[in-house]
Amino acid sequence: MARADYFDRAVQAAFHVLNDFDQQVFLEKVDAHPVALAFDSHALTLEGLAALDLSIRLIARFYHKIAIVPLDREGGDVAMKLKTIAKLINPKITIASRFAGATDVIVVGKTVPTDTGSAFKYFIGSDGWIARFSRSNPVGSGRSDNALGAGVAACLAASNIFRRIFADAKLDNDIAFSVLDMDTTAKEPRNPKLKKVDIGDTYLVGAGAIGHGFLWAMYGYASMAGKLTVIDHDSIDLFNVQRYALTGRQSEGSKKVDLAADFLSGRKELRVKKFFGKWEDFVSSLSEGDWSFERVVSALDSAKDRIELQAALPKWIVNGWTGDTDAGISHHNFINHACLACLYMPSGVVKGEDVIIMEALELPANMTMEVRNRLECGTPLERGFLEFIAQQKGIDPAKLIPFEGKPLRELYTKAVCSGAVMELATGKKNVVRAEVPMPFQSTLAGILQAVILIAHAAGESTIPGFTRIDLMKPFVGARSGTSWNQAKHPRCFCKDEDYRQAYNEKYM
Ligand SMILES: [Zn+2]
Repeated sequence: MARADYFDRAVQAAFHVLNDFDQQVFLEKVDAHPVALAFDSHALTLEGLAALDLSIRLIARFYHKIAIVPLDREGGDVAMKLKTIAKLINPKITIASRFAGATDVIVVGKTVPTDTGSAFKYFIGSDGWIARFSRSNPVGSGRSDNALGAGVAACLAASNIFRRIFADAKLDNDIAFSVLDMDTTAKEPRNPKLKKVDIGDTYLVGAGAIGHGFLWAMYGYASMAGKLTVIDHDSIDLFNVQRYALTGRQSEGSKKVDLAADFLSGRKELRVKKFFGKWEDFVSSLSEGDWSFERVVSALDSAKDRIELQAALPKWIVNGWTGDTDAGISHHNFINHACLACLYMPSGVVKGEDVIIMEALELPANMTMEVRNRLECGTPLERGFLEFIAQQKGIDPAKLIPFEGKPLRELYTKAVCSGAVMELATGKKNVVRAEVPMPFQSTLAGILQAVILIAHAAGESTIPGFTRIDLMKPFVGARSGTSWNQAKHPRCFCKDEDYRQAYNEKYM
């Protein structure tokens, strides 16, 4: 039994969302909390199996002692499949087939497990678009061919377990809501039975952690047609396995676009194309007359990339992001309300990479342009700049010498976020946040992107343009302040008449 070798990254991710982080205490807690996944034969529908599939993908890359427990005779094959997935994710994982010692149990189906001792139980299920979560009673799984409610429910379970074990934070009470409008107050949550949805010409830009949530959800919506072009320039590295829902330990080294296309290969009516390169390379590979992008799913990392994406004037964009303890989504048509670039302008509602790094390193505001230039050009760090950072952070400059000649982004991810120089983060004045989100944060953002994309393609109404969900708190729903229509940024190019005219000429 052992933690996965990418677990260091998980430690950073936890640090990201917890205050008063103590690495030793954190590791002891991981070791002391086996998490179980239990189900009965009522869970053997597409929805129930999807809830199990995503639950195992989320917990097996974090908890290294788990249990997979079928509650009646019919579950043996499914238990074997889940076990296989868990072993691919962490070959060193320990898997029990009984509850023995499990402290937290996710239950899918209609059975209340009896021999769980004092373990906390999280009953999850769904009915098409409706996600269900309860801590007291089974909630069952529907029989539709739509797994999106189930996916959101699995993310809720993972976030509740994390909150309970590590943050001692308030858990969710019983909830059921439609993921289409996230209205937790609706007497009858919206649950339309959609016919086959044609997503037309859709582009996924970025096949990282959020992209994986999106791809998982696209597979989980069985009745879908259209074309999806996946664009990404990167390969899977070991640390990505910590939070990318579709990866296993063996995925290291694969191109992200290949993994995406392989995962969706079972969906015959969805034509998947891949482009290995950046968005800008993709755009310049097309002739100018083809610069029309019907629907774009933005799962990018940086503010700069998102602004460039918006500048190509796609007809419609759905964007996903993760923040300190948040998962967020937004959707944009350029003309009304904020465009994607509005959100990521300096002083926009979402912090750009430059701002996050400046805060982490406690750099003064008059260095903003310098930091942006360094990030943009990958300028090698000079001794003087490192000494200045050491002075700002009140640490020994010798600790930063290994970063001489390296780009600023590398210093940030390796020194600030890694356990190696953790005191840089936990010491002195204030707590610095690392940039690596928890798997359930990114995955939820990606699933909700798929919800909004499908709703848009089907002409169904959905949540307002901007949504921010704090996963360290109970879910409150779109009508309680998580969603709103964000106003345009006063200095964004979407207010420029020439751009608006170009957009209208392209699509109107
Ligand atoms: Zn704008």
